[in-house]
Amino acid sequence: MTRKFEGKTLLVATHNRGKLEEITDLLKPFGVEVVGAAEMELPEPEETGTTFVENARIKAHAAAKATGLPALSDDSGIAIDALDGAPGVYTADWAETGNGRDFIMAMTRAHDELVASGKPEPWTARFCCTLVLAWPDGHDEVFPGVMEGRVVWPMRGDQGHGYDPVFEPQGYDITFGEMDRWEKNRISHRADAFAKFVTGCFG
Ligand code: IMP
Repeated sequence: MTRKFEGKTLLVATHNRGKLEEITDLLKPFGVEVVGAAEMELPEPEETGTTFVENARIKAHAAAKATGLPALSDDSGIAIDALDGAPGVYTADWAETGNGRDFIMAMTRAHDELVASGKPEPWTARFCCTLVLAWPDGHDEVFPGVMEGRVVWPMRGDQGHGYDPVFEPQGYDITFGEMDRWEKNRISHRADAFAKFVTGCFG
C-alpha cells in the first residue's frame, strides 16, 4: 500500500531550475506549497548510484533528513540506443565543465559519438525519469516514467532545458525544445512518472 502525502509543504529536492519549474507546474492542481532545495540552502549530495532509482533515493532521503519535510526528488536522463544507453545516469555529467553546465557541449558530444558509432538514423532514444518521495522517517515511494523518441541534429528550439533541443518525442515532428511547455508537461517522461506519483500519493 502506497503511503499518501498528507502534508502542506513539499520539498522538491533539486537544484535544477528547469526541473523545479516543471514539477511546480505539475503540482499546481493539488494546492501543495512547493519549496526548492536551493531556497532551503541544501547542499547537493553526491550522486554515487549507478541507476536513476539509486540517485533519486540519495537526493530525496538527504533532503528529507536535513529538513524534516517530505522530499520529492527527480533523477532523469536520456538513454540513446546506438550509444548502448549512454549518457543515461551520466546525462548531467556530460554537460559539466567544472564551471557550470554547458548543454550545447553535451548535445554536441552525443551527436559526435552517434556519428562516430556509424549507426544509421533514426537514433532512437528515451528520456527516463524516476521520482522518489521520501519521508523523514526513512520511508520512500518510487515512480518511474519514460518518453520514447529519437535524437535529431541540428538542435532545434529554445524552450525547455537540458537536452530538449535534440529530442524529438515519438509521434511529433518537433523537438521538446520547440514544444510549448504545457504540451511537454502533458506527455513527458516526468509527466508519466508524475501521474503514477499522483495516483499513488494523492489518490
Ligand atoms: P540529474 O539532475 O542528475 O537527474 O540529471 C538529469 C540530466 O538529464 C540533466 O542534465 C537534465 O538537463 C537532463 N534532463 C532530464 N530531464 C530532461 C528534460 O525533460 N529535458 C531535457 N533534459 C533533461
